[in-house]
Amino acid sequence: MLNYELKTMFELSKIVRDNIKSLKPYSSARDEYKGKDGIFLDANENSLSKGYNRYPDPLQLKLKEKISTLKNIPSENIFLGNGSDEAIDILFRTFCEPGIDNVIICPPTYGMYEVSANINNVNVIKVPLTSEQFQLDTETVLRRININTKLIFICCPNNPTGNGVKWNDIKLILENFTGIVVVDEAYIDFANYNSLISKLSAYPNLVLLQTFSKAWGMAGLRVGMAFASAEIISLFNKIKSPYNINAVSQEIVLKALERKDEVVGFIEIIKTEREKLRTELSTLSFVAKVYPSEANFLLVKTTDAKSIYDFLVSKQIIVRDRSKIELCEGCLRITIGTKEENELLLKTLKQYK
Ligand SMILES: *Cc1c(COP(=O)(O)O)cnc(C)c1O
Repeated sequence: MLNYELKTMFELSKIVRDNIKSLKPYSSARDEYKGKDGIFLDANENSLSKGYNRYPDPLQLKLKEKISTLKNIPSENIFLGNGSDEAIDILFRTFCEPGIDNVIICPPTYGMYEVSANINNVNVIKVPLTSEQFQLDTETVLRRININTKLIFICCPNNPTGNGVKWNDIKLILENFTGIVVVDEAYIDFANYNSLISKLSAYPNLVLLQTFSKAWGMAGLRVGMAFASAEIISLFNKIKSPYNINAVSQEIVLKALERKDEVVGFIEIIKTEREKLRTELSTLSFVAKVYPSEANFLLVKTTDAKSIYDFLVSKQIIVRDRSKIELCEGCLRITIGTKEENELLLKTLKQYK
């Protein structure tokens, strides 16, 4: 159990939707009988077939045990989703009453928060990050909170700007908000500061998101993590579809966790390449600015984003055009590739105009 040192005004039962509080979850065959051995005639599976004929563990306990050791947090504080996108959707379904409640996001930021809000018919209050520094405007965030505000999304390091936001600002929001503060740490492995995992015990209203899609290189498997109080994790488990992580993904991630050193190597290379690319890109005449990055991509302000984007596409190099987004005018977001890919990108860009 995590021990909460600090008593905020936060009371979980006050912000959970009533239908979720009273929800009796679906109980699968694998929930009702947890033994490993026996003749299984309880789930209408095909016993004649071998391999993947059995439903996977609904709570992914083996996998969580490994993640628990890696992240130094008890299994009961871990939720696994079909990508962190599933966790984002479940946050809305747990806390936000459609048509009534609202959430705060701080653009420019990850697009899924707003899409997930729209799908769930939840209002979005936008409090933009400060220009250029892309930090939280905490004063406005706190001022815009109303009685129907249930979630505040903070992305750190932020996508698409690449920077981290200040812990003191996050702390101020955590301590002055009776709803949930979601800190999305999808890119934390590339950052020069630590995850907020160690802060979970002090803040019962903190939910952290991480993923196997970025540093771990397993975007195709769709496995994301949420870390929070055991009470919040239980709610997520009640709501999720029974077998949300398939057996193959569970197996492969489990194996990957045994090759942790490989990931440390990836991160090292990507960070080195990032700084090299940042320096090189800055020398190009049509590059106005390369923003500092704590992630595996660079936000690059150019003089003519659309035409550079089109030029790169014509050379079969695809980057992300973020120039239509407020505060990102003229910007392209470029993911750090292999050394060879990055060199080819630079060589190609030098041919522009
Ligand atoms: C890529 C990304 C994710 C990852 O989503 P998955 O569903 O786990 O692949 C989450 N948050 C942010 C900010 C991202 O950029």
